[in-house]
Amino acid sequence: MKVLVTGGAGYIGSVAVESLRAAGHTVAVFDNLYMGHREAVDPEVTFFEADLADRKAVDEALASFAPDSIMHFAAYSLVGESVEKPFKYLGDNVVNGINLIESAIEHGVERFILSSTANLFDEPETIPISEKEKLIPGSPYGESKFFLERILHWANRTKGLRYAALRYFNAAGCTATRGEDHDPETHLIPLILQVALGQRENIKIFGDDYDTNDGTCIRDYIHVSDLAQAHILALEALKEHETLHYNLGNGSGFSVKEVVETVREVTGHPIPAETTPRRAGDPAMLIADSRKVRSELGWDPQYPDLKSIVQSAWDWHQAHPNGY
Ligand code: UDP
Repeated sequence: MKVLVTGGAGYIGSVAVESLRAAGHTVAVFDNLYMGHREAVDPEVTFFEADLADRKAVDEALASFAPDSIMHFAAYSLVGESVEKPFKYLGDNVVNGINLIESAIEHGVERFILSSTANLFDEPETIPISEKEKLIPGSPYGESKFFLERILHWANRTKGLRYAALRYFNAAGCTATRGEDHDPETHLIPLILQVALGQRENIKIFGDDYDTNDGTCIRDYIHVSDLAQAHILALEALKEHETLHYNLGNGSGFSVKEVVETVREVTGHPIPAETTPRRAGDPAMLIADSRKVRSELGWDPQYPDLKSIVQSAWDWHQAHPNGY
């Protein structure tokens, strides 16, 4: 298929681009390089360096590449920042998404895959969290993805655009050639690895007074290439289905303290840690029930354990201590 990947120079998007190409699809990337890296995309891939806020640029890219499918990764994606700057998220993420969705419909795109989030589940009644759980966004970031899922619902109902909403739990790990390089870095595993690389004195643990086994937040870490694989399966499944919604995780939770301990094991570094107050917008526990995507699409994550995920990230960060 011909797939336009927005945010294809970013962390998850760049791995999806590689996986799509390996699966034989033709790919183009649309990225403003605000967070992404040009080096993360093979020079052979058609690259539109432009902003989704620029509707004309979106129209031009869709007219010239004429994709039949879109994977939409490009978005602001930090829960903590979204609490500080709600309108950046409620505004730009939603408006840029509408630009893309409307243009996609006008240019005959058939299938659309949205990067959605576990931040839709702020008050889960049942853990692990299945697709039956009530959608209660936990932050302006989560709300922006909720809006986009609803906009896609109506794009399907009124215009026939087929879509999959994939709710990632915590994307982690690296491939041999593509890794996590954010500036500033805010994510737990790369920050701990910066301590192991001697680039940071210690890791701050954001709150140890949560209602969990050791008081720190529990998350479900899923390898970025397993996420990419789910996108390819969803793309194919949209041939048969109008809409798909899946929660993507490994189904096991690790506390912040357990993640720090795993990085100590993998790197052999003592990783000093310091507890600080909670970060706004963080739910205590997010663990996915991914049985639906496993049984319906045959999704089979290749990195089910945290240690191998951390090892893959450690390999990349050692090879790229200053990022791309
Ligand atoms: N976290 C932490 N210290 C940090 C960064 C993150 O304790 O320096 C915690 C954060 O509060 C959350 C977990 O680690 O409970 C994962 O955070 P991350 O930002 O990696 O992903 P998120 O869960 O926000 O998508």
